[in-house]
Amino acid sequence: MKRTRCEECNGKIIKKKIDFRLYGISLGLFPAEVCTQCGEEIFDEETSDKIDAVAKAKGLWGLGAETKISKSGTSLAITVNKKIVDFMNLKKGEAVYIHPETKNRLVIEIQ
Ligand SMILES: [Zn+2]
Repeated sequence: MKRTRCEECNGKIIKKKIDFRLYGISLGLFPAEVCTQCGEEIFDEETSDKIDAVAKAKGLWGLGAETKISKSGTSLAITVNKKIVDFMNLKKGEAVYIHPETKNRLVIEIQ
């Protein structure tokens, strides 16, 4: 089914190649339908599968994961899994800057 209007805002849809980025790393150019009004980007199933395959090949698959909060003295500690440690090249003892972005989003910045 061809769409010419955006489902979100009824804006005009154009076909365009998009530099798809995951965690700030480019996975390459992929064809997408893009809304000229709200910027909504839609990939067809075949393209989505290709993007997933490239992400897996680059080791960017499954970096997002659930973790638990544990207690460390009077503070709480959050465990970072090995995939993220390797991807971000984190080291024990390294100082990071931590701040809330909203009430339910915590940002950790590597200096
Ligand atoms: Zn739109």
